[in-house]
Amino acid sequence: MKTADIIIVGGGVMGSSVAFHLRKIGFDGRIVVFEKDPLYEFSSTPRSAGGIRQLYTTPINIQLSRYSLQIYKQFPETMAIDGEPAEIHFRQNGYLFLATKEMLPSLKKQCSLQKQYGVPSQVLSSQELLDIIPELNINDLAGGLYCHEDGYLDPYSVMQGYKKNAQRLGVEYIYKEVETITTDESKVIGVRLVDGTVYHASIVINCAGAWGVYLSEKIGIPLPIHPLKRQIFQFDIATPLKKELPLTIDPTGVYFRHEGSKILSGFSEDTKPGIDFTVTRSLFYEQMWPILAHRIPNFEAVKVTAAWAGLYSFNTADHNAIIGKHPSLHGYYMALGFSGHGMQQAPGVGIGLAELIYYGKYKTIDLTPLRFERFAENDLVLEDAVV
Ligand SMILES: Cc1cc2nc3c(=O)[nH]c(=O)nc-3n(C[C@H](O)[C@H](O)[C@H](O)COP(=O)(O)OP(=O)(O)OC[C@H]3O[C@@H](n4cnc5c(N)ncnc54)[C@H](O)[C@@H]3O)c2cc1C
Repeated sequence: MKTADIIIVGGGVMGSSVAFHLRKIGFDGRIVVFEKDPLYEFSSTPRSAGGIRQLYTTPINIQLSRYSLQIYKQFPETMAIDGEPAEIHFRQNGYLFLATKEMLPSLKKQCSLQKQYGVPSQVLSSQELLDIIPELNINDLAGGLYCHEDGYLDPYSVMQGYKKNAQRLGVEYIYKEVETITTDESKVIGVRLVDGTVYHASIVINCAGAWGVYLSEKIGIPLPIHPLKRQIFQFDIATPLKKELPLTIDPTGVYFRHEGSKILSGFSEDTKPGIDFTVTRSLFYEQMWPILAHRIPNFEAVKVTAAWAGLYSFNTADHNAIIGKHPSLHGYYMALGFSGHGMQQAPGVGIGLAELIYYGKYKTIDLTPLRFERFAENDLVLEDAVV
């Protein structure tokens, strides 16, 4: 009989972070991670923009990303294997929300909440924005919310860092697709793979990203989540900018940052839910480019060099993650629904879920606000700063 103590479905950044942290805090049973996409071609993690920010409007999101940022700063050294640093290219170039006159009062409120949690965010005047981006068109801007500690990193390298360290500590990765989680009355008993093989385990963690909602539905646990396509365009500019950009969010929602000498840009378009990886270049040329060219004149002459679509595991109820155990299906745990902010939460989620399983309670950060039960209890975590 094939058995494990813990099965994790999905070996992206979440599954790998949870697996690594379980081992790190001392869990020595058999952990098996099932991953259906050995090259991670369609996984959300490598398709992410990698933005890391503490600029949130809810205590739990501020705490999670503040914790994760400290971990990312040390990641190359703490996750090194045989002296080889786990480089994640974390560039602390800052994160900047640009604001119109109407938006500024709300950003000021957000700034004071962030400061209560130790985040060095600042509200900048429109003139001060020019110190950060000298080419910025500030005609229609009143200022911005900025945090110099934040920035962006390479999501694929983070995932590999967690995965390699989990494997080093004895976690097994099996590149097969889970067809369903198996249950017996009120408890999980394992998984059945698409090839028919059955594995037994008393704990199954659903870290299947945008596909996780379908697995949950199969065992009668619907979640307020759907997969949602998000596109990213990368382009060259004819005239380089004077300074390296922070990850900057235009008031329209179009965001941009440097990627080496290129610019990477994305936008949360209106689109139908579902698994869809089609790139529509018209999104860039018709909607994003005019906004980009208006904001920074150097973006008038561009050449698109790459474009891709990835999936948000989009929480339709409150845009936030669903983390923890299910209240009545014993042994069923989940870390899903991260929408557009999973990369900046992965270290905190990994340690939190590992603690909940190993010690029976959260120790590092109390993730209770993100529990499954909040929907039935009408205790949503309403986050205003969603990208
Ligand atoms: C375009 C885009 C931009 C983003 N930008 C940011 C950003 O700037 N900052 C930020 O913090 N976050 C961002 N995100 C969100 C972030 O990338 C995700 O929240 C995060 O990567 C989710 O990680 P995950 O491990 O849950 O999902 P994934 O990386 O998708 O991993 C889930 C894995 O489960 C596997 N799987 C699914 N079903 C099964 C099954 N039945 N059997 C076996 N394996 C299965 C999949 O193959 C996949 O590899 C962005 C996302 C996108 C798409």
